[in-house]
Amino acid sequence: MKILISGGGLAGLAVACFLEEAGHDVEIIEAKNKEVYPEYVVDFFGAGLEVLKRRGMRRKLDSLKKNFDFSSFAIKKLYEENQDKIVSLSIRDLRDLFCHQLKSSIHYETRIHEIETNSCGSKVVLSSGKEETYDLVILAEGVHSHTRKLLFPETKIEDLDLYFSVCTKEKRDESKVIGSTLNPKISASYDYEQLEICYPVTLEDEASFVMSRKPQESKDCHHFYTGKMELVILQKAFKGRVVMLGDTLGSLSPLSGQGSSMAVYQAHVLVGLIEKHKSVKRALQEYEEEVLPHIQRIQKEVRTTKNLLFPKSRLKYLFVTKLGVLLFRLGLFNHRIKKMFAVHYYDFLSRAKK
Ligand SMILES: Cc1cc2nc3c(=O)[nH]c(=O)nc-3n(C[C@H](O)[C@H](O)[C@H](O)COP(=O)(O)OP(=O)(O)OC[C@H]3O[C@@H](n4cnc5c(N)ncnc54)[C@H](O)[C@@H]3O)c2cc1C
Repeated sequence: MKILISGGGLAGLAVACFLEEAGHDVEIIEAKNKEVYPEYVVDFFGAGLEVLKRRGMRRKLDSLKKNFDFSSFAIKKLYEENQDKIVSLSIRDLRDLFCHQLKSSIHYETRIHEIETNSCGSKVVLSSGKEETYDLVILAEGVHSHTRKLLFPETKIEDLDLYFSVCTKEKRDESKVIGSTLNPKISASYDYEQLEICYPVTLEDEASFVMSRKPQESKDCHHFYTGKMELVILQKAFKGRVVMLGDTLGSLSPLSGQGSSMAVYQAHVLVGLIEKHKSVKRALQEYEEEVLPHIQRIQKEVRTTKNLLFPKSRLKYLFVTKLGVLLFRLGLFNHRIKKMFAVHYYDFLSRAKK
């Protein structure tokens, strides 16, 4: 099949790789210039990790692993017990893992200008002026996908009223520190007005924050990524010969810690189903039935996590920052962390080919 992939983020690159492996003719377009990709560290676990294991990419992935210093971290034991089930690495390295395997090149600074789709194919006009009909168009344009707006105007974006920021802290302002995080080595300001949760990334001087107000750039912080947390709510995954993937289909927000894993998992399921069924329509229908319930379940968990970590009432807030941390240290939330490692959804994969 001749397939256009719009978006050169993790989801687009993963699906491009898997499609090439299956012998399809792939074209990838990316709106940005090659150089401007954000960088942050992701925890990669669950279904996505299992996919890479099955596809013989696990060893390469492990070689990109960043080492955390968990010596004083409350969930150190859990991480140790689950070492083989989680890989923490830079999103850039994860993206490059797929990029380096690609045979097709990426057309940067190119977007879909116009698109029409029906059950036989998708007619596309690109910003470069090129006009082409594809057997399938895959939208992997991230949370604010422009093409999704054209084809799925019913999409809802749920604002979680939270911001995240990943930055390098060169100097810590100890005067603002009135509490401690789960890792005593990393401090956070627990100020109700500017509720802030901070956790270590890879090095002591790198930190990521989740907060209820837009983070201000300060002199002692070098921000390299900041954004709003949003969930993409959709009841459909395809229309005609256009299908969605990754954050375009159902952004889970960094609170879930599963966006990259789900993107790789969805790519694997989609390609597996295209291989399994002769009918593209049947493959897309089964893909939709398979992936939407997982997205909805994880989004539900995200809302629970949000209400737990960022409660509206001052009383609950005190519970989180004082008693909650204590209970966490005692291991009372371990079952929830274990759930995060998502061992329980490995079996979903068995439905997809491979
Ligand atoms: C701070 C942070 C921490 C995170 N932590 C974790 C974690 O611990 N574990 C985890 O699993 N996930 C995590 N995630 C989520 C994960 O990174 C994302 O879910 C995943 O990268 C989504 O990939 P994507 O390709 O769908 O979207 P994106 O990465 O947004 O890629 C979309 C691409 O499409 C391009 N594009 C946009 N519009 C167009 C257009 N019109 N035409 C062509 N191209 C277009 C964009 O430029 C971009 O390159 C985190 C995310 C953030 C921001």
